[in-house]
Amino acid sequence: MPGPGEFDIIRDYFSGAPQGAGVVLGIGDDCALLQPPAGELLATSVDTLVAGRHFPADGDPALIASRALRVNLSDLAAMNARPLWFTLALTLPESDADWLQAFADGLFMCAREYGVSLVGGDTTKGPLSITVQVTGSSAAPLRRDGARAGDAVYVSGPLGAAAAALPVILGQCEVSDREHRRALAAYYEPVPQLHTAAAIGAIATSAVDISDGLLADLGHICRASGVSAEVQIDALPVAELARALAGERALELAATGGDDYQLCFTVPADKLAELEALAPGAVRIGTVIAGDGRVHNRLNGENWAAASAGYQHF
Ligand code: ADP
Ligand code: MG
Repeated sequence: MPGPGEFDIIRDYFSGAPQGAGVVLGIGDDCALLQPPAGELLATSVDTLVAGRHFPADGDPALIASRALRVNLSDLAAMNARPLWFTLALTLPESDADWLQAFADGLFMCAREYGVSLVGGDTTKGPLSITVQVTGSSAAPLRRDGARAGDAVYVSGPLGAAAAALPVILGQCEVSDREHRRALAAYYEPVPQLHTAAAIGAIATSAVDISDGLLADLGHICRASGVSAEVQIDALPVAELARALAGERALELAATGGDDYQLCFTVPADKLAELEALAPGAVRIGTVIAGDGRVHNRLNGENWAAASAGYQHF
């Protein structure tokens, strides 16, 4: 039996999306009509996840959907923007009703959790690929270019779990059922750090979400801000799952592994007491210094170089 066609897919799986604030007209017309919150800036971002590159093609469709939305929400968190709306461009090799139902269920569960409305999209045939574009709004956006020499560098929480989970996700190693479940959660269900962003929005000077690896992403802040940074590698909060799965390599994964979607941000020296009250889970890992955009790493008083520089697509 042939699967549902393009218009059936849109009607049966996506047009019933929960609609929240600011949606004047949702799915079904040539465009959605959206009412931005008065006095705030819109923040918008898009990410494409390609099967076999960003997730395994045979992965759980509900988890794939959740990851596709979460990585985009993380970009909003990095700008201190509140999630409002998203669109979904779905390219499918075939139309498989069970896959679509699980995908839509996973997508809407996540959308409800974060109060974000699906307002449109595109559905085409081809190699499996998922593009989500999110829009949010912010009264106090956090950018990459505001770090200044003397600021402290923080991360919002533990690092290395998703990178340590990847070999498990790819079926390259055997672990206990419990570790397997934790690996799936670390890789497919990163938590966009919206609360931390809201807490630090008024005092942080810059922020980035850690998608490519801490040192690579902190490098983006440094180059955008025209500064350098010194990182105490021994101060990094290493995720418990990274230690359990990667042993001695856990620290390296915390420094360079991607996909954790914690935030890295900078705070002026005179705001540190305030910061610790606002974001008690954040961990100081270094200091911004004058320089040419490079990140200098120290471990036990010595210079430390990562074996790999972080994820790059090309
Ligand atoms: P158009 O030809 O004007 O681009 P489409 O036929 O592609 O319109 O889509 C019809 C409606 O369904 C539009 O409102 C579009 O935003 C929406 N839509 C299409 N695919 C999806 C999808 N995967 N998820 C959500 N909405 C979708
Ligand atoms: Mg279209």
